Amino acid sequence: MSDVFQDAVARLRNLGEEAGIRPEVVEALVQPKATLAASLPVRMDDGGTRYFPAFRCRYNDVLGPTKGGIRFHPGVSAAEVKALALWMTIKNACVDLPYGGGKGGVIVDPKKLSRMELERLSRAYMRAMADFVGPDTDIPAPDVYTNARIMGWMADEYEAIVRHKAPAVITGKPVGLGGSKGRGEATGRGAFHIVEKYADHRGLDRASTTVALQGFGNAGYHIARLMQQAGYRIVAVSDSKGGIYKKDGFDVDSLYKVKQESRVLKGVYCEGSVCELVEHDTITNAELLELDVDLLVPAALEDAITEENAGDIKAKAIVEVANGPTTLAAEGILAERDIDVLPDVLVNAGGVTVSYFEWVQNRQGYPWTLETVRARLKSQMEDAFDAVATARAEDTSTWRAAAYAVALRRIETGIEMSGTRDYFNSED
Ligand code: GLU
Repeated sequence: MSDVFQDAVARLRNLGEEAGIRPEVVEALVQPKATLAASLPVRMDDGGTRYFPAFRCRYNDVLGPTKGGIRFHPGVSAAEVKALALWMTIKNACVDLPYGGGKGGVIVDPKKLSRMELERLSRAYMRAMADFVGPDTDIPAPDVYTNARIMGWMADEYEAIVRHKAPAVITGKPVGLGGSKGRGEATGRGAFHIVEKYADHRGLDRASTTVALQGFGNAGYHIARLMQQAGYRIVAVSDSKGGIYKKDGFDVDSLYKVKQESRVLKGVYCEGSVCELVEHDTITNAELLELDVDLLVPAALEDAITEENAGDIKAKAIVEVANGPTTLAAEGILAERDIDVLPDVLVNAGGVTVSYFEWVQNRQGYPWTLETVRARLKSQMEDAFDAVATARAEDTSTWRAAAYAVALRRIETGIEMSGTRDYFNSED
């Protein structure tokens, strides 16, 4: 299996060349600016101490302080954190935020920790990283298996260390602790705006558009809910334990209710009153990816669509709500088969966009209304789609190539403004 970071760099090189980006700009992006690796000592409830490997990568800060989430997952690795941080660099530039890219992670299965152990781990992470992050240097946020409560603990720990309030050090906090209204739904809502723009672009009729969704976490739930409200038919949903299918489409809120009560979608397989609300056939995650639907929405982890299954995908378009769900090799196969892949760096940028709004509100000391957040998110996402669609009209090889072209041109401008070989060698 190829290394996820090497894959990310190979993609950067290919798409940088395709977009005509100066080689010295691409070269500036093939390594992170700095990565901090730490071992987090955590007192467990049984009195013993365990040590969890942790990372924070500040990938590139040409366009502003680095920004990106922190992931708690057993599959985290230094390579994965670097790849995710590179994608954040592209994502923030693609949607025109004044940020570079960063990412963090801890190798841990948070579902196996008690609530108090999880709090101690979160605080230990911030203690290890306190000199590396900051409101003007690097601003973390939630990612896979981290949430608002965890961000609140981390903000509190940072403030205890620096001995003053500093809410802008981290975003995705609870609203009662300086978080932004609308941050929780932002990734799903932003992705929904991109799907709507794409549907207009392609002239899709919503009512006859079928959708399969892999991953029913925060982002997956919100995009599914909003798509269903807009008339799309959500015919399949899965989580890490398995999937369910219903030809006529699910009522997303009933599904969510069942999942909340039982913790897993598998809860719908049980017998009883709530389960009867949701009729379904069971399918595996692999089967879900190969369903004959119009839109396939991977909203879980990396490597969902690989060389092995790309030839069997029947969807007309893939909407990448997860980060990095399509491998480089798979993308080539999909492009040959004329399947559009709307890329993660555009589709899921609503989360970091509302994180940016949160940071602005914290710095202004002036909270916005939910209506303001939603309206600004919509226009930021729509403008980003238009910029990418314009680049796509220049006949880029894929939608991802168009998104990278938009992002890399912005980074290139930033680098050029600080001087290049051509500038320093010119006589005029
Ligand atoms: N973890 C999210 C992402 O991958 C959000 C990052 C942020 O809000 O800074 O985009």
